[in-house]
Amino acid sequence: MYTLAIHGGAGTITKSSMSPEKELLYKAALNDALKVGESILKNGGSSLDAVVAAVVFLEDCPLFNAGRGAVFTADGVNELDASVMRGDNLMAGAVAGVKNIRNPVKLARAIMEHSEHVLLAGKGASDFARTQSIAFESDEYFHTDFRLKQLEEARLEGGTFLDHTEKKFGTVGAVALDKHGNLAACTSTGGMTNKRFGRVGDSPVIGAGTYANNQTAAISCTGHGEFFLRGVVAYDVSCLMEYAGLSLQQACEKVILEKQVKLGGEGGLIAVDAKGNISLVFNSEGMYRGKLAEGSESVVEIYKE
Ligand code: ASP
Repeated sequence: MYTLAIHGGAGTITKSSMSPEKELLYKAALNDALKVGESILKNGGSSLDAVVAAVVFLEDCPLFNAGRGAVFTADGVNELDASVMRGDNLMAGAVAGVKNIRNPVKLARAIMEHSEHVLLAGKGASDFARTQSIAFESDEYFHTDFRLKQLEEARLEGGTFLDHTEKKFGTVGAVALDKHGNLAACTSTGGMTNKRFGRVGDSPVIGAGTYANNQTAAISCTGHGEFFLRGVVAYDVSCLMEYAGLSLQQACEKVILEKQVKLGGEGGLIAVDAKGNISLVFNSEGMYRGKLAEGSESVVEIYKE
């Protein structure tokens, strides 16, 4: 038995604000990312390999605010955050505020597997990447017209925006259960348009944006990072299952539909547990999302209903 879920960000994504062509593009990308992950799980591969491969696919796709399609900082550069965690041994790796890294999730994995640390940031993280044959790209690789326009708009309005257009959060993530009963989760983002001062959100913070534990669940979040940090959202889901005996769905709903709503945190999460359950829960108007389980058709959705 295996399961896989992915997200491409949550926010004010409504059918009326989306052209049919754009909707098809997003759905095709989500479907392809699911296929990439499933091809690994189907053949007995690990949940870790599957979530990383699915997120690498989404990082390479310019539609999402991660890797290639990352939003711009106030200085007109792209600062990327990512994290990964495995549920069998609670090993984790994360990277914050790195530039020119093609696939930040691969760097997060290298930190988990080849360093004695969990979280590396900025220049030091890039120096480490060079020791690990991690691919770098030029500034131009990350310069999409769409994101530059968002930065210009944000500068005019004088604010910091979460994937600016219609308050859409474009972070990507994946969670999976493999045939061996192991869970894994990862998340990758460009953060907020027009961000300053080395701002880092929840995505590279283990316990906030990402968490995995075979005893409970694998979780990847997307939304307004400041609130997800303060709510320690991913670990809170795990805690509610471990200490309060809640089911996966109950725990996700409590955290996203009650606690985050009360706090003012817009967004959502994807989660799977070791029993094969999958939960995709969000309190925003939409969340790019997809899921599949062994033996059943994959499902890709964008809006609430
Ligand atoms: N959580 C991410 C951040 O705050 C943004 C997102 O999910 O789109 O950096």
